[in-house]
This record gives sequence, C-alpha cells and structure tokens, in this order.
Amino acid sequence: MTVELDGGRGEGGGQILRTALALSILTRRPMRMHRIRAGRAKPGLRRQHLACVEAAARLSGARTVGASVGSQELAFEPGETTADAHLEIDIGSAGSTSLVVQTILLPAVLLGGARTFTVHGGTHNPMAPPFDFLDRVFVPHLRAMGADVELVLDRHGFATGGASQASHDDPSPHRGRLTVRVGGAGALRPIELLELGPIRRRRAVATIARLPTHVAERELGRVHDRLGFAREDCETLELSHPGTANVLTIEVEHASGWELVTAFGERGLRAELVADRACDEMAAFLGANVPVGEHLADQLLLPLALAGGGAFRCAPLSPHATTNIDTIRMFLDIQITVEERERERDAIVRVGQGW
Ligand code: ATP
Repeated sequence: MTVELDGGRGEGGGQILRTALALSILTRRPMRMHRIRAGRAKPGLRRQHLACVEAAARLSGARTVGASVGSQELAFEPGETTADAHLEIDIGSAGSTSLVVQTILLPAVLLGGARTFTVHGGTHNPMAPPFDFLDRVFVPHLRAMGADVELVLDRHGFATGGASQASHDDPSPHRGRLTVRVGGAGALRPIELLELGPIRRRRAVATIARLPTHVAERELGRVHDRLGFAREDCETLELSHPGTANVLTIEVEHASGWELVTAFGERGLRAELVADRACDEMAAFLGANVPVGEHLADQLLLPLALAGGGAFRCAPLSPHATTNIDTIRMFLDIQITVEERERERDAIVRVGQGW
C-alpha cells in the first residue's frame, strides 16, 4: 500500500524525504510525498535533494513522478533492485554528497551484495554531516552493527555560499568527490550507546585552501586555549584547491565512540570567532555528559529501527530527530520510546521491544 507523507510536517525539511526514500526501498512500499520541504525558505526539491531521489531510484529501479528542481510533490515506486555494482552520482552543484550517502547507504547495506558509489558535490557543507563526521562518527557505529562500509574522500568540495540554502544550488566548478564501498551485510544488529566515560583521544584539524596559514594557527591556538588541546593534537591541513576554504573540526573519542564538531570560515569572520563556534559546540557536548550528540542522535534512529532494536543516551531530542521518528513510524511498526530525564537533563531513546 502506498505510504502518503506530508513533507511539511514537523521540521518540514529534507530529512523526511531522505528517510522516506530509504524506507520505501527497504519495505518495497511505494510512497507519495506532498509539501516537500514546506518548512524551508526555498521549499521543494533542490539539486541536492533531487540527487538523493535519483540515487535512490537507480539503486531500486524505481519509477518516479515529480522528480525535478522546485517540485513539491513526488511519487516514488521501487522496482527491481539494480544489479549495477557501481553508481556514479553527480549532484551538479556543491550540494552535500553526505546527504546522498545518508539516503542510499542503509538500503545498500541491507539489500546485500557488494557495491560502490561515487558522489560528486560538496564534501564539507554547513547543515550536513561533513565527510569526517560520516567517516569517523557515524559509520563506525554501522560497522559495530555488522555493516561492511568503507568511505574514501577522493577530493574536498566546499559550498561557497556559506549558508545551507546556497549550497543546495551553488553551481560550483570546484566540486569534490567521495566514494563509498559497501560489502553485503544483509542484516544489522542492535547496539547500545549509554556511557560517555573519560575522553581518550582528541584532535583538532584546521583545513585551509588559498588562505594564509595564520588563519589555521589562530583557530588551533583558540582550541588550545579554550579546550586545553595539546599542540600535538592540533593539525593544519593545507589543500591545493581552486577555491578559498576554511573548515575547523574538533573531535574526541570516548567510551562509546567519537564526536566531531565543525565550524566553517566565512569572509569577514575572524578566525578566533570561527574557532569559538566549534569550541562552544564541543564544550556543550562535553558538558552534557552524553555519548550521542545532537546530529548523531537523529542519524542513529533509522539504523536502529532497521536493526529492530538498540538504545542510546543523548541530550533532549531536536525537532529534527522527533520528525525523523514520525517518518520512520509511517513505514515500520516499531516501538521507539524517548525517556526525557529532567534531573540528568538527558534523554534515553529505546528502539524495539526489550531495550
Ligand atoms: P533542508 O531542510 O534545507 O532540506 P537538509 O536537506 O540539508 O535541509 P536537514 O533536514 O536539515 O536537511 O538535515 C540535515 C542532516 O545533516 C541531518 O541528518 C543532520 O543530523 C546532519 N547534520 C547537520 N549538521 C551537521 C553537523 N555539523 N555534523 C553532523 N551532521 C550534521
């Protein structure tokens, strides 16, 4: 039976579309979505979302209606899963490659068989997981669940616009590329992420292209001053890239995995203030004493639901995450409970019976 979705519900952003595409493929249920991204300033499908639809359609042999830029309605009917072991997807802009990966990775893992995807676009975009987050925060949890996934950053790609809306359509000539290799897993097993524990390792990387090295040095100096990172935990990565770029990532390893926060340099914004944004975010994560940060929380919901179980502890859920739960429930009959604990100022999310 066709699943009817209101894309403007809850947070009303692109996540409803990506989660629905993945679940339509995996449940083999056609879906129809209206009011796509109605909660956003520029509603409808942008190039980045269209690339997600096209990637999902190619993976599942789906028939689509309404797959065009600006469209607020989409019908998606999965067909025979493609036998193509390799998919090449070009977003056609510096839109986020990792959001395309977010759409097709779990279907690819669960459909089984060995596949590779190469995606051309932005690899480090605001409002999306940067490549490093996928690689070092999200995918290790999938591996712990039994998935065989490897990611390669072939070439950095940055959105020049700064804000996410610009990055969806930015026809940047300096696109990046990432490659994903998936071995057949066929099934996922539950995981439990409840403890933060002591911080075991830390790392800060200031990436720059076509900027003086003092930009990176000042950012890392701020990370040292504010978070006490040792100099040997701080690294400058200078890219030979045709455009100007600056990204600062700060990451820590704890008992349940890694957390990574990102800040992007902007024209007119002092390096110290760029670093402050990332430091504020990391300080908030460490202060919350939870193992799962805001973004990981919404990204873990789907794999746990597909594994049929699992649990994690995070800060009270964002509207992004609660909207994602609503979308999952449109396709899967699975129990997801969120226990918000006032005294601890955290939430325990349990998926499936007995967790
Ligand atoms: P839009 O709503 O404009 O369509 P979108 O398609 O970019 O936006 P959102 O619905 O906002 O999508 O979802 C963005 C995704 O990127 C979510 O999975 C979120 O967890 C992830 N994300 C955003 N920022 C970060 C970050 N700094 N680190 C890791 N993940 C991030």
